[in-house]
Amino acid sequence: MAIDFSFTPEVDEVRLRVRDFIHSEIAPRMEQADAAGGGRTEMIKAIGELRPRARELGLWLPHMPADWGGMGLPATALAAVSAEAAKVSIGPYILNCQAPDEGNMHTLLHFGTEQQKERYLRPLCEGRSRSCFSMTEPEVAGSDPTLLQTRAELDGEEWVINGHKWFTSGARGAKFAIVIACTDPDAEIPQARNTAFIVDTDIEGFDIVRDIETMAGGHNHCEIYYRNVRVPAGSILGERGGGHKLGQVRLGPARLAHCMRWIGQIEQALEMLVERAQTRFSHGSYLSEKQGIQWMMADSARELYAAKLMVLHCAYKMENGLEFKQEVSMAKHHVANTLWQVVDRAVQVHGALGYSTDTPLAAMLQQARWSRLADGADEVHQMRTAELLMRAFNDTGSINGGVGDLPI
Ligand SMILES: Cc1cc2nc3c(=O)[nH]c(=O)nc-3n(C[C@H](O)[C@H](O)[C@H](O)COP(=O)(O)OP(=O)(O)OC[C@H]3O[C@@H](n4cnc5c(N)ncnc54)[C@H](O)[C@@H]3O)c2cc1C
Repeated sequence: MAIDFSFTPEVDEVRLRVRDFIHSEIAPRMEQADAAGGGRTEMIKAIGELRPRARELGLWLPHMPADWGGMGLPATALAAVSAEAAKVSIGPYILNCQAPDEGNMHTLLHFGTEQQKERYLRPLCEGRSRSCFSMTEPEVAGSDPTLLQTRAELDGEEWVINGHKWFTSGARGAKFAIVIACTDPDAEIPQARNTAFIVDTDIEGFDIVRDIETMAGGHNHCEIYYRNVRVPAGSILGERGGGHKLGQVRLGPARLAHCMRWIGQIEQALEMLVERAQTRFSHGSYLSEKQGIQWMMADSARELYAAKLMVLHCAYKMENGLEFKQEVSMAKHHVANTLWQVVDRAVQVHGALGYSTDTPLAAMLQQARWSRLADGADEVHQMRTAELLMRAFNDTGSINGGVGDLPI
C-alpha cells in the first residue's frame, strides 16, 4: 500500500520542535508585544529578538535548500512546519518564511543569475534585507496581468520604467522590488508582453505615495509611482517577455504557502471555538450541547479536514514534480473560504468577546477577508478550475485529471 498519511520521524520531530518554539517562546513574546501596544515597532522588535534564536534552533528558512542556509524541507514537510509556525502571526517572520519574501526567494532561486542571487537572494536568506513584489495597479484589474499599464522602455543600455502600482506588500523598508512591467506591448501573445525587473528601492524615481489603510489597518501595503526609474539591462529577472510566466511560477508555490499558513490559523480559531463552547453556559446547557453550535463545529471540522488533505496532496504533487495547477487553484479557493468561515464562526460563538479585540479573532477575521480576493480571487480560481476540468474531460473522456488525478 503506497498511500501513507504519516510523516517520517524526522519530519515529525521538526514539526514538534516548531510547535514547541511557537508555544514556549514566540507566543509569550507576542503577548508581551501586545501588552506594550502591539504596534508595528513592537512587533519588529520582537521579530528581531527571536530571529537569532530561530537560527540557533535550526528553525530558519524552512522553505529553502540547505545551500542557502535553509532547512531543505520537501513541500509536504513544509506544509506541517508552516501550519505550526502560523499559529502566531509573527511566527513565519521569525522563521524567515513570510510573504512576500518567501515567494521572492523561490523566484530568485529559480530565475536569478548567479550575480542576482548573490546580490539579492543571499541577504534575504540571511535576514539582512527584505523585498517586495510589485505587480498590481489601481487602474486595471489585478486579476488579469495582461492589462498592466506600467511600461519599461529600452534607452541605450538601460530600461526606463514608468508606472503606478499599489498593494506592493512590504515595500517600505524593502531593499528591492520585483516589478512586473510591459516591455513588448505588440507581442502577439498577451502573456509575452510583460517582463520582471529587480529594482533597488533607493533608486531615483521609486516613490512610495502611502501605506494604504486597509480594513485591518496599515500593514505596509504600499502605493508606488515609478517615475523614469532607470535600471541596467542586467536587472531583468528571467527573460524578456517572461514576466507572466514568472508570475505564474512564483504564485503556484506562494499560494500553497499561504494555504499552509492558513491551516494554522484555522486550527487556532477552531480550537478557540471548541474551548469557548464548552465553557459558556446559556439557557440551561453549555453552548457545546446545542445542535446549532455542534453544526458549526462539524462544518468547521469537515472543511478543515478537506483543507488539510488538499494542501498535502498539492504539496505531494509539487514535491514529486507533478503538475499541480488545478489542485492549487481548488486548494487556494477552498482553504481561503474555510479560513473566513471558521474564524467567523469562532467570532460568533465568542459573542461580544469575539467582536472585541481582547482575543486574536477580530484581527484574524480582518486579515482573512483578503485571502478570498488576493493571489487570485475566488471567482478567477473557479474560472480556471472549470476550464481545466473541461479540458481534462475533452482530452481524455474522463474528468479525473481535473479533480486531483487521484487513483479512485
Ligand atoms: C492584503 C493584500 C496584499 C496584496 N499584496 C500584493 C503584493 O504584494 N503585490 C501585488 O502585486 N499585489 C498584491 N495584492 C493585490 C492582489 O494581488 C489583487 O488584489 C488581486 O490580484 C485582485 O486584483 P484587483 O484587486 O485589481 O481586483 P480585480 O481584478 O478588479 O477583481 C475584483 C473582483 O472582480 C471579480 N473578478 C475578477 N476577474 C474575474 C473573472 N475573470 N471572473 C469572475 N469574477 C472576476 C472577483 O470577484 C474579484 O475579487 C494584494 C492585495 C491585498 C488585498
